[in-house]
Amino acid sequence: MAVTGKPPYEEGNIFARILRGEIPCRKVHEDEHALAFHDIAPQAPVHVLVIPKGPYVSFADFAATAPAEELAGFWRAVGLVARQLGLEDSGYRLLSNMGPDGGQEVGHFHVHLFGGRRLGRMVP
Ligand code: C5P
Repeated sequence: MAVTGKPPYEEGNIFARILRGEIPCRKVHEDEHALAFHDIAPQAPVHVLVIPKGPYVSFADFAATAPAEELAGFWRAVGLVARQLGLEDSGYRLLSNMGPDGGQEVGHFHVHLFGGRRLGRMVP
């Protein structure tokens, strides 16, 4: 059996449940490739999570295994959401926690979109 460093995708993770409609979310945008919704514990005036529809554990998984159409569709949706939220002129920050050292808590790839105020310097 092949051994890889990639953790298995858990179908019961909270974002998979949101995608299946089992748990509500405050939806901002949805299309074929992505769902965007407000984070339940916002760290900025605007704090939205954008997730792909496919079962990707992390950024590393998504970047390495998603078909080009899904990669493009997802990142296009991230840009669209930022524009829809009126953040394009003022600016915003994108962040994805990857794996244990990156502080990732939910095992479904997601991008945090922060905005709505002048954000502080990035510190690890
Ligand atoms: O990147 P990380 O995995 O740490 O972030 C998970 C994010 O998911 C947190 O910001 C948390 O507030 C958010 N969350 C949410 N709705 C849930 C569970 C977690 O918005 N039901």
